[in-house]
Amino acid sequence: MVITATRTIQKDEEITIAYTELLAKARDRRLDLVPFGFICKCEACDGSESTMHDAHRLAILHILDQLDDYDRGKGDMEDPKVALGLAAAMVHLLKATGIMGIHLDEAYSRCADHASELGDEELHEKFMHRVNND
Ligand SMILES: [Zn+2]
Repeated sequence: MVITATRTIQKDEEITIAYTELLAKARDRRLDLVPFGFICKCEACDGSESTMHDAHRLAILHILDQLDDYDRGKGDMEDPKVALGLAAAMVHLLKATGIMGIHLDEAYSRCADHASELGDEELHEKFMHRVNND
């Protein structure tokens, strides 16, 4: 097996692999791990702040639903500034929960899309630079 990093890895930085959907609730992640034969004891799954981690994940999923509706022209949200604010909030929540990788890249990509919609190409480039680098 060959694993390729999509960003710079710092010396002594812990490298982790997700065995389950990171945005799922702790209870559901625990069930997903049964076939692997172990119980995750990380802070998000088993720590004193697992309830907060679940709340952040729920908020992220809610933001994703809102942004998907916005992209499809559904729902109440019509202002690209609001969409950009929600995408930026998603970045913040992902970082607060320690979720990186494809979810964070998607959040930055969405920020870049909404910056473009607002005609701010400089901001678009800033967000695109973060994709695969943060
Ligand atoms: Zn865990």
